[in-house]
Amino acid sequence: MKFPVRRIKVLFASVFLSAALFSGCASGPQLLPESYLENMAVGQFAQMKEELPVSRNRAHVQQVERIGARLAAAVADEMPDMEWEFVVFDDPSINAFAMPGGKVGVFTGLIELSESDDELAVVIGHEIAHVQQRHANQRLSAELIRMGLGVAVAYGASRQDQVDPNLIMAAYGLGSQVGVMLPYSRHHEYEADYKGLLIMARAGYDPHAAVAFWEKMEAAASRGGVPEYLSTHPAPGNRIARLKAAIPDALREQEHAEAQNFLRERGLLDD
Ligand SMILES: [Zn+2]
Repeated sequence: MKFPVRRIKVLFASVFLSAALFSGCASGPQLLPESYLENMAVGQFAQMKEELPVSRNRAHVQQVERIGARLAAAVADEMPDMEWEFVVFDDPSINAFAMPGGKVGVFTGLIELSESDDELAVVIGHEIAHVQQRHANQRLSAELIRMGLGVAVAYGASRQDQVDPNLIMAAYGLGSQVGVMLPYSRHHEYEADYKGLLIMARAGYDPHAAVAFWEKMEAAASRGGVPEYLSTHPAPGNRIARLKAAIPDALREQEHAEAQNFLRERGLLDD
């Protein structure tokens, strides 16, 4: 796709400006307007749907849409305007991804590896958590700063100008896509595991499935042919212990959500 290119002058080192923009978020700087990333991701996702085979397997499509709808409902309060879209790509890769703007892709190989809605909800919940936590923006911003382009991009963004897409593309490296090929930091991955577990539990899925699912992923890796998902994610062993430790939090979250739903259904909650 084509972006209007507008050159952004690299300014005198505007420490004040960058400090102002880098603060204001707990886990990492977000230099780019989220709407900008969302527009870019929506275009890339549309392109992927043209270039990759979209599944016609009704059972797979219905399963992913069913799980996606429940998980999206669980985050609707915090992301009311997100236009979630869940697409099954017919590909044996054990993989899934999510992009800013709520575009989620799940590959056939992953659906076949998981044996229940609960297990598939573990991965889709993890991906939704990346979107919820705006990890793509943080990851990309960190890369721009590393390249010394942070101030230039921040200046463009602060003036509501078009951010020069060449700068963004430089940060990705050629051919990679928002939230797809972009590996996140370990911190972001563990955060997505934790928040994703809360999301799936809130949606009524069994958080214990996370342990079962990652053990399956580990077994698949040890059989050789490392699942694609693991090429951008930490090794399962490291995550299983953390997920186990997070299960009590997830169960509490579930109980709270159930209580809220109970009250809401009886009109005892004013929202
Ligand atoms: Zn991840």
